[in-house]
This record gives sequence, C-alpha cells and structure tokens, in this order.
Amino acid sequence: MSTWYSSSVVEPGLTLVTEPAVHDYFRANVFVLNGRDRNLVVDAGMGLVPLRPALPLDPDRPVIAVATHIHLDHVGGLHEFDERAGPRVSAAGFATMPDALTYAGMFRGFPGAVTRPPFPGWRSEDYRLEPAPLGRALVAGDVVDLGDRSFTVLSLPGHAPDSIGLFDEADGLFFCGDAIYPGGLIDDLPDSDRAAYRATMRLILSLPIRLACGGHGNVMDPETVRMIADDYLHATDRRR
Ligand SMILES: [Zn+2]
Repeated sequence: MSTWYSSSVVEPGLTLVTEPAVHDYFRANVFVLNGRDRNLVVDAGMGLVPLRPALPLDPDRPVIAVATHIHLDHVGGLHEFDERAGPRVSAAGFATMPDALTYAGMFRGFPGAVTRPPFPGWRSEDYRLEPAPLGRALVAGDVVDLGDRSFTVLSLPGHAPDSIGLFDEADGLFFCGDAIYPGGLIDDLPDSDRAAYRATMRLILSLPIRLACGGHGNVMDPETVRMIADDYLHATDRRR
C-alpha cells in the first residue's frame, strides 16, 4: 500500500485524499464518494504515484472520475480510471495534456516541489502528465447520477476558464474544485478571468450548500463559503 497519500473520512461514504509531500501550492484534494450504483472520484491529484489503489473504492461498483478543471494538480491520476468526465471547454486538452492548459511546466524545477521524492531518482524536471481523453464532456446542467443521489454540473469559470462543480441539490453537497477553497484563491493565471470569477462567486452564494468540498484545504461549512465568496467580491470590487 502506498504511503504517498493521506486519507480522512469527511462523513460516511465521503473520503478526502491528499498528497502531503507535495508543495502546498500544488497539493490538491481528491474526493471519493461511494454511491449506491457507482463510486464518484472528484479530481485525481498530481499523478506522481498510482492513485486508484490508494482510494477506498467499492470493488463491486463502477467508478466515474470527474476532473473539475484541467490543471496539473487535478488530473495527474485521471488516466487510471476507465470512465472519465471533465469540462467540455477543455475536453480536447485531456487527450494531450498541453502545458498551456495544465500549467505542468510550473512544477518542473519548482523549489521544494516535494518534501520527499515519490520514488528513488525522481526529479521534478521530468514531470509529465499522462493523457486522459474524456469519455464524457460535461456542461452546465448535465447530471452525474450515482443511483441514490445525483449531482448537477455547474459552470464555475474564473480561476480557470473550464472550471466546473458538482452540486447535489437534494443534499447540499458541493464539489467546487478551485472555484472556492480556504486559502489564497488564484485569479491571476494567464487564462484567469476576474469578472467571470465574480459571477461564479455570486452563483455560489445563491446555492443552498450544506458542505463544500474544494480543490485545496479543508472542507467548508456554508458560513465559510459565504465568507470567502463575500471577501472575494469585496476585494475585487473596483468601485470600492
Ligand atoms: Zn486550478
């Protein structure tokens, strides 16, 4: 069993998996939700060590892996899953994982990229993402159905143009990728869009969220989500 990943149970059937040895700028969350008919995996880490064997997947049920956007820290292990879904906006990119979309080049030579190598002789300079062509390209309003519960796809651009989220309208569980998480939000990448990000924050503020699972850091209660979204809107309000 790999010791690369760390996992914790968020609530029954929902597990958070991270890569503690990865620099915190890149250390992202992987979520596993065990549904009645299918397991859902949200995001797929850096791809430095095989991910799938480290996940608490029910072997009797198929798995659908959904990438919230195409950035390197969310798609590294995506190729390990047979059923792959991700945003239609960047769908073509998943077949080749170009640096221009994934920003994988930022990790190569990054000081302190990892606190220990994933395997002997590993060098960040050699970092490459495995292509993971999508079987399903998601747009807003699409539904990801696990049998006993289902998630509606939301378009959440701003941090990245292709950012999507999954929202269970019946339960308030929200997988939001890098649209919102505790910690510094990144809206200054070459293809970030602050106006779009502001609209995304207003959308998030309108949702009846119970628990939000972001791409980085701890899961968030509704008050935390509201505070982060309000802070962002305030900080980016040019009329201030
Ligand atoms: Zn990102």
